[in-house]
Amino acid sequence: MKRILITGGAGFLGSHLCDRFIKEGYHVIAMDNLITGDLKNIEHLFHLKQFEFYHHDVSKFIHVPGELDYILHFASPASPIDYLKIPIQTLKVGSLGIHNCLGLARVKNARVLIASTSEVYGDPNVHPQPEEYWGNVNPVGPRGVYDEAKRFQEAMTMAYHTYHGLETRIIRIFNTYGPRMRLNDGRVLPAFIGQALRGEDLTMFGDGSQTRSFCYVDDLVEGIYRLLLSDYAQPVNIGNPDEITIKEFGEEIIKLTGTSQKLISLPLPTDDPKQRKPDITKARSILGWEPKVSRAEGLKITYDYFKSLSKDDLFRMAHHKEF
Ligand code: UDP
Repeated sequence: MKRILITGGAGFLGSHLCDRFIKEGYHVIAMDNLITGDLKNIEHLFHLKQFEFYHHDVSKFIHVPGELDYILHFASPASPIDYLKIPIQTLKVGSLGIHNCLGLARVKNARVLIASTSEVYGDPNVHPQPEEYWGNVNPVGPRGVYDEAKRFQEAMTMAYHTYHGLETRIIRIFNTYGPRMRLNDGRVLPAFIGQALRGEDLTMFGDGSQTRSFCYVDDLVEGIYRLLLSDYAQPVNIGNPDEITIKEFGEEIIKLTGTSQKLISLPLPTDDPKQRKPDITKARSILGWEPKVSRAEGLKITYDYFKSLSKDDLFRMAHHKEF
């Protein structure tokens, strides 16, 4: 049985990865310090012998007994609200955290896949963004703590690959959504759906002309799975190229939820990227991957998930994790 360590395993993406690798017959070790992760996302796996949970901060020395075949580094705050609240931890998990993972991988002779991000492209002036684009990032702006941590993480991973010959994979993740997002993580989708459910107006930042391209979580997980098992060490974009303005996105959520509330405009946050859309030529040709779930299908599943949450869940998601 292959053994895999998933850091950030109790988070939104990490928990979906735990499910996938359990399904594929792996022994899964999830590691999380639960700052932004939630045990609720993985509690359905606790009874399985092939699943373990380590409550640990990956920025501190990592000890995992036994063999490891793969390490997925998905620990990190990932929404602008979160990394503005905990900027130092964000920088540490992208630097000290990946250093610990890479060191562990050398000892175990494991392959490492790191979660990088479209944020490495910053506020891009090339559109859509191919992997060859070096980006337009403000290192000292509010997003710098996340963007630069992720850029450093890529550099560190590539150095272990070239200097130590470690097997490494780098995925650049574009906006992804689905069940288990936190209602209060500040991202546009849970923000809009939460507001619709509470009967509040939907807070559109700026005039809503900025674009994003939203990928459903199952599609993303499939891309990660394929990249991990591939032999390609350079960065690969995984995301859905179906681009939409935030205003149109808000209108879709209003229609989906049937809310009688409207979109209101609030000031645009500093350095908010004006446009974002992945060029997925590489993912198509190297991994034979492309997204399968339309936004209409994915949004319906995600809305049903938020509607199905109990009052307790909603309270916990809205009020805990106030760092
Ligand atoms: N956004 C918005 N209203 C919100 C939250 C976000 O209009 O309540 C906008 C935000 O300014 C950005 C887009 O939606 O242009 C996506 O924001 P998100 O935080 O989800 O992700 P990111 O900016 O990292 O792509």
